[in-house]
Amino acid sequence: MSTEKTIHCPEKTEGRTRLVACKYRQRGCNMILPMESMSEHKMSCPFRSAAIQTHVTSSSRASPPNYVMCQFESVGCEFEGTTRELLEHECASLNSHLKFMLIFCLESDLKALKAHTKVQSVSAHLQHNIKQLSNSLRDTQGECQADHRMLISLKEQIMVLKRNLEENNQYLLEHLVATEDNLRRKDEEIAALQKQLQEKSDLDVVTRFRVRVLEDFVNEHLTRSGPHILSEQMTADRNQDEELRIGVKIMEIFEFEEKKRQAMADRRLALVSDPFVTSNCVKMKLKIFLNGDEVEGETCITVYVVILRGLNDENLNWPFRGKFTLYVFDPESRNYKFVDRFDADPNHFSFQKPCTERNIGYGFLRSIGHSELGRLVKDNKVVIKVTVDALN
Ligand SMILES: [Zn+2]
Ligand SMILES: [Zn+2]
Repeated sequence: MSTEKTIHCPEKTEGRTRLVACKYRQRGCNMILPMESMSEHKMSCPFRSAAIQTHVTSSSRASPPNYVMCQFESVGCEFEGTTRELLEHECASLNSHLKFMLIFCLESDLKALKAHTKVQSVSAHLQHNIKQLSNSLRDTQGECQADHRMLISLKEQIMVLKRNLEENNQYLLEHLVATEDNLRRKDEEIAALQKQLQEKSDLDVVTRFRVRVLEDFVNEHLTRSGPHILSEQMTADRNQDEELRIGVKIMEIFEFEEKKRQAMADRRLALVSDPFVTSNCVKMKLKIFLNGDEVEGETCITVYVVILRGLNDENLNWPFRGKFTLYVFDPESRNYKFVDRFDADPNHFSFQKPCTERNIGYGFLRSIGHSELGRLVKDNKVVIKVTVDALN
């Protein structure tokens, strides 16, 4: 019986797992398992209990024997029997047990070597991995630092942009206010220009009206004076030409000495000219007193300018403003000699818009003394000229 249960040699090895057949295969068990699983199987193998049953029936009926395993079971011995049989087995199986021990030691060494190799391989692998991780960590750290720097830079750029934006906003706001002011000023200027344009347009109407009045006056004058011009001499021609000018009035005083004597006898006697117009369409006439008109015993000629009521007075600017100049014709030099000049006094009633047919006269009171006339009297005739330079 002991020979059946001695050494069980490994049958085959597949890959790294060693497969062994069940030790009860001679009794009919065909189980082949990895070596580490076989110990468990052996305890529950159905053919084991069959063997024990056989053993029991073939023994004495008195008491069931106590089966024990060989103490070298853990290194491969599969002996199993009674205590007495075990003693016999141990004496007879020294060599087998030494072989089991040797194989076990060799296998252990091999396992240790393999484990060591594996540990070394794993260690190398781990070291490699650690190195790689370390490198990766360093790279990541570097990238993180770069990112951090970039983040700071971006933050600064955002700050700058924000500041710029605020400044731009401020500038735009100020610019907007200035533009609005400009627009308002431009609007005001446009309104003023429109007003001026309107006034200009109104003025144009007045000017056209004035021109028409002046044309009518000149035409009328030409028609009335035409034959007279033909009958006079050169002086008269010259006077007539002068008289055609706007704002000029010439009076020829014939039989001067006789008229002067009459005036000295009666100071109310006066010579009155035809009406004439100024450049601003004011209608006037001259009134001449050959011996003054105010003081007893005067020996001078007084020349008044009298503003007459006109049809278009409503359209004119009042009071009349302008300059009056008095001349006497000098037959020797054949030129008018300047005598005196005055400016219209806008506060005087003589220069306001006429309320009646004529205003009170205003003029040259004592500009021409009788004694000063002398050679200016030729052929018993004196020629007096008044020019009016209107300002409005
Ligand atoms: Zn089995
Ligand atoms: Zn043994």
